[in-house]
Amino acid sequence: MTADTDAKGARGTAGAAVPGLATASLCQTRRVPPEKLQWKELYAEVVTTGLCTGCAGCVIVCPHDVLGYRDDEGIYRPFQTEDGFGPDDCSHGQKGCTSCTRACPRFRAWEPEIDEFLFGRARRVDEASGVFKDVVLAKATDPVLQEVGQDGGLVSAILLYALEHDVIDAALVSYLEGDGSTWKAIPGVARTKDDILAAAGSRYTYSANTMAYNDAGDGATSPTGAIPGHHRPLHHDI
Ligand code: SF4
Ligand code: SF4
Repeated sequence: MTADTDAKGARGTAGAAVPGLATASLCQTRRVPPEKLQWKELYAEVVTTGLCTGCAGCVIVCPHDVLGYRDDEGIYRPFQTEDGFGPDDCSHGQKGCTSCTRACPRFRAWEPEIDEFLFGRARRVDEASGVFKDVVLAKATDPVLQEVGQDGGLVSAILLYALEHDVIDAALVSYLEGDGSTWKAIPGVARTKDDILAAAGSRYTYSANTMAYNDAGDGATSPTGAIPGHHRPLHHDI
């Protein structure tokens, strides 16, 4: 597609606008790949624009280990570490690596793709929460989990069930620094019920749980045995 059609909408062979295609063309330019989108685009569109949630997903998936993660002075952001390149570029990205953009949950409009994959259609404008089959209010039945959970301990109960039934080897969770008074969340691995109880509750701050993935590898039987879970960055238990 040429710059002309990008700017003015899709055109037929005679140059006339094709009714209905302008909107589709615009949507396609907002979706993840087929172009080789890499750190350069991620840095410009997410890290420096306020869209970044500090989840560290890009850091963990980077196959060349050129991304670091800053979590001091209230700054929770990934950064590029490769010698000879500035913060806004990556030599591997220039050669075709796209892992970080594909892992990032804030990069462009990924929702239509996952909606298509899960439900066979993209969400409508009146489905701000996404496509869903049902809405359920639930809480843990174990009073201990109810007590330590923020709003009923459901996530803790799910993790405990998965652990005790060998669905997972471990979970990537969020602990609190020290006695909790600093409100700083520390990513970690939960391998026991006590670990899950210690990580229960909300964290109203950043927590890059994925950063604990390498620690999980020590005890997990497979890389997929440890799941990211419990507390999403900036949000909480259910
Ligand atoms: S483009 Fe590839 S190598 Fe470069 S930061 Fe992204 S994932 Fe890492
Ligand atoms: S993957 Fe997470 S940490 Fe990396 S740029 Fe995206 S939101 Fe930020």
